[in-house]
Amino acid sequence: MDTPTPIANPAALKEDGVGCHSGAETMLAAAKAAGKSETLAQYAVDYPKGPHDQPQSMCPAFGSLRVGLRMKRTATVLSGSACCVYGLTFTSHFYGARRSVGYVPFNSESLVTGKLFEDIREATYKLADPAQYDSIVLINLCVPTASGVPLQLLPKQINGVRIIGIDVPGFGVPTHAEAKDVLAGAMLKYARTEVEAGPVQAPQGGRSTKPTVTLLGEMFPADPVILGMMLEPMGLAAGPVVPTREWRELYAALDGSVVAAIHPFYTASIREFEAAGRPIVGSAPVGHDGTAAWLQGIGHAANVPQALIDAAKNRILPAIRGALAAKPIKGRITLSGYEGSELIVARLLVESGADLRYVGTACPRTPWSDADRQWLEARGVHVQYRASLEQDIAAMHEFKPDLAIGTTPVVQAAKEARIPGLYFTNLISARPLMGPAGAGSLAAVINAAIANKHRFDTMSAFFGDAGQGDKAGVWTDTPQARPEFRADFKRQVIKLHAKRKAEAMI
Ligand code: SF4
Repeated sequence: MDTPTPIANPAALKEDGVGCHSGAETMLAAAKAAGKSETLAQYAVDYPKGPHDQPQSMCPAFGSLRVGLRMKRTATVLSGSACCVYGLTFTSHFYGARRSVGYVPFNSESLVTGKLFEDIREATYKLADPAQYDSIVLINLCVPTASGVPLQLLPKQINGVRIIGIDVPGFGVPTHAEAKDVLAGAMLKYARTEVEAGPVQAPQGGRSTKPTVTLLGEMFPADPVILGMMLEPMGLAAGPVVPTREWRELYAALDGSVVAAIHPFYTASIREFEAAGRPIVGSAPVGHDGTAAWLQGIGHAANVPQALIDAAKNRILPAIRGALAAKPIKGRITLSGYEGSELIVARLLVESGADLRYVGTACPRTPWSDADRQWLEARGVHVQYRASLEQDIAAMHEFKPDLAIGTTPVVQAAKEARIPGLYFTNLISARPLMGPAGAGSLAAVINAAIANKHRFDTMSAFFGDAGQGDKAGVWTDTPQARPEFRADFKRQVIKLHAKRKAEAMI
């Protein structure tokens, strides 16, 4: 066996090593010292940070893991601390992954001596069976990234199985949504070099006879079918959805005439499509205005004659208008999430009649959501990119909505304030959103939730202030309110401030 490759930055691992407790700055500095500067600089451009320097939702690497696990004939292997791998494995199976998650464990010694890299290489060679796999994805989590484990030194292919190593640290990739892009972008880059090198496999059902529109962003399974119907009058067909479900779909995705950035945060993937010469169209066919603008943008980018674009609009827009009118949403809403589809859902809510005041997305601002932002702002909706949890909760308190749609902690805060709440990821974003089907799909669940307000009032009246202050926790004795303690504490704080001020003046 070759001599192990020592890690570039053993000093980063002195004492108890780098870990979550070290803080993002320490991890970042360690990773840079370990030779990851180029990757991190690209991440800083692709995924600019917001007010918070660490993820406020699930571990970002889940996004890459999910993309790998959903692909046929792909093995996904994690390299990271056991606690991170446990959480990621648990979450992936919670979300219905039916594949094994590979793991190469390490300890301080194997990390410092470079043996971890050798172990990863050995595991990759063992896994690389072309009868089973088209590709193997290896994901460096926080500690191996900060320590400089050089996945880029792995062979590009073994026995014809493609090897893709990526770094997905929480201190460089702010959301799991953007982590999907890290892997999708790396795969598209690999596939693009294969296309440039010579003929590649055709899609399973053969190449489309019509020019196709590649759909960027995970969506409800019925949405691509509906999109295909909307494109048909323009002589276009719906192409693959990226992230794809199998390797050969990557070639078909690159072969599309136009790329529809339905989710706007796929910066690295868009870079690959642009390198392949494909035009990109942002936003999505949601609601009446969104669909009209999207059909126009796609038709224009694909050089479709205006008469055919108009035919496509005439075919679908009256049905959308009818569906919106038939199922109106009544009530004031605040909306926040970290999936990246928040702005298009917001448009649909507004067109359905909702009084939407705030939309917060954990994803960054990109050119591909600009049309949605402008449309929403023109209707008085506050759009907050890279929204922090604090901003989302503050908006909920400020606007006092009839319904707060948001992440788990936002929904929890809403319910505490007796405001009905719906979890964005499971209850809103996982529904058909496009075309006539999308126009009516949100109303039932939202109106039902708003109508439940009285239940929160009943529950609140029943529980009173149980669980608050001295009525929280388990007590061995009868809890007593202690106003004298609070007064004493306040006196001490005032005294301390006065002392500090006096010292500062000296
Ligand atoms: S990989 Fe990083 S962000 Fe993810 S759980 Fe581990 S320490 Fe946290």
